[in-house]
Amino acid sequence: MARKDIKMKVKCAWEGVKRQEMRNIMEFAKGYRKFLSIAKTEREAIAEIKKIAEEKGFLPREKVKKVRKGSKIYWINREKCMALAVIGGNVMDGLNIVAAHVDSPRLDLKQKPVYEDKDACVALFKTHYYGGIKKYQWVNIPLAIHGRIIRKDGSVLDIVVGESDDDPVFTITDLLPHLARETQNKRTLPEGVKGEELNVLIGHVPSDDEDEKERVKTRILELLNEKYGIVEEDFVSAEIEVVPAGKARDVGFDKSMIGGYGQDDRICAYTSAMAIMDVKNPIRTCVVFLFDKEEIGSESNTSAQSSFIEDVIADIIDMSVGGGDYLTLRRVFTKSAAISADVNAAVNPNYKDVHELMNAAKIGHGIVITKFTGRGGKYSANDAHAEYVGKIRKLFNDHGIAWQVGELGKVDIGGGGTVAKYLARYNMDIIDCGPSLISMHSPFEITSKVDLYHSYLAYRTFLEKFK
Ligand code: MN
Ligand code: MN
Repeated sequence: MARKDIKMKVKCAWEGVKRQEMRNIMEFAKGYRKFLSIAKTEREAIAEIKKIAEEKGFLPREKVKKVRKGSKIYWINREKCMALAVIGGNVMDGLNIVAAHVDSPRLDLKQKPVYEDKDACVALFKTHYYGGIKKYQWVNIPLAIHGRIIRKDGSVLDIVVGESDDDPVFTITDLLPHLARETQNKRTLPEGVKGEELNVLIGHVPSDDEDEKERVKTRILELLNEKYGIVEEDFVSAEIEVVPAGKARDVGFDKSMIGGYGQDDRICAYTSAMAIMDVKNPIRTCVVFLFDKEEIGSESNTSAQSSFIEDVIADIIDMSVGGGDYLTLRRVFTKSAAISADVNAAVNPNYKDVHELMNAAKIGHGIVITKFTGRGGKYSANDAHAEYVGKIRKLFNDHGIAWQVGELGKVDIGGGGTVAKYLARYNMDIIDCGPSLISMHSPFEITSKVDLYHSYLAYRTFLEKFK
């Protein structure tokens, strides 16, 4: 064997990209950037993917009676999680599954959010953060609010404020450096901005009524009532998410990267959804799951730990061969193979110390195969078996997928989890594969367009050809 074939190659995925492929990469990134700019909540992501799926011939479960080879179906659970399936070979031979998540770290409004600070003459929203954020990253940036309110009479109101050019934005005010020296600057970084300091500035004009105690708050509530027909109590039955305002952008002179909020894990949600929509003649029946609540431990009925996955697979069995009883379902699960489509951390040039560089992912080096997740000592990990890693590696090699390996930080530094371990409970093979991000969980996460494209290719190849 030639010496060059003995050593493992580490290759930048941009190298040797031909003109046509370059066009494909840039074109695919445009669609993704648009999606990322619109889909800033789990509901918006599901709505957007539903729209694209319908354009591509997917039918909602309710409209499907019987399925045959090539049937395209989707399921939506509470508008926050979704499954898309393309019927291929006999379901009893097992399924090819890709699972991503559509929720991202953010700030949620509290149920009684509106208050007035008399000393500062302003009105604000109280928030409770969702998922793992570095709180100091959320101050002094333009913020938008996206969400749903169920009014007193039960009517539904969806609102988005802060995204169009005419809209106002909101913000969380940080302390000026002059006054931080003896106070905030003495705090540790995680305490630099505290949870109860994440209050969103929403106005400051007092109402006309001089007898009112809280005139600024009253004026805000009046405005909200005029514009949306809501009253203060309506916030109790609302899910309003505060997210970074503005569109996702190209990053760099070479426009090789995308910067934007929510790429963990909407980059995998988008690429896996696009992959299943483009699948042709899959060998096995394939399913993409888009879960909610991953960022808070996959709890609740729209998460990867809910019965949604069992309900959908049992439904597929029932529609294709009839039945879908407990034993049949378990047999199908056991024969199935899955990819947990989630992101990994790319080497950050400013903080290389946290990585063991030989095993760390780098942007632009393809989709990351993450054999194990978890933390120090592989606790709470899904650790894919060598046999399965071997199959995935061969599949990617055989189909020209740019891939690399990755580990989430040095041993005993940090770590992280994905939905992989929850799907592994069904005794199916599963491994984490997804692009790497710089500045993960920040308001402006960075990905490489070549990784984006190869993630799409990887998921599509897996869904279509894995057996
Ligand atoms: Mn994730
Ligand atoms: Mn995450």
